[in-house]
Amino acid sequence: MIKKKIQCLNCKTQFIYGESPFRPFCSERCKMIDLGHWLNETYTIPLGPVIEGEDLDEFEDESESEYR
Ligand SMILES: [Zn+2]
Repeated sequence: MIKKKIQCLNCKTQFIYGESPFRPFCSERCKMIDLGHWLNETYTIPLGPVIEGEDLDEFEDESESEYR
């Protein structure tokens, strides 16, 4: 077992590297949070403000074709 202490990449809590199955995170929660950030950056789905205007249909078509 690796007994080196490392910092969680998400919450900066120190923990023993060999004791966490979720390394380099301290817990499953931190791992999922980080994964969520990563997904948000990758897919850039607009979750916030709804886009108003007549271009909405066109915009959706473009974003779909990008992921195929
Ligand atoms: Zn953490």
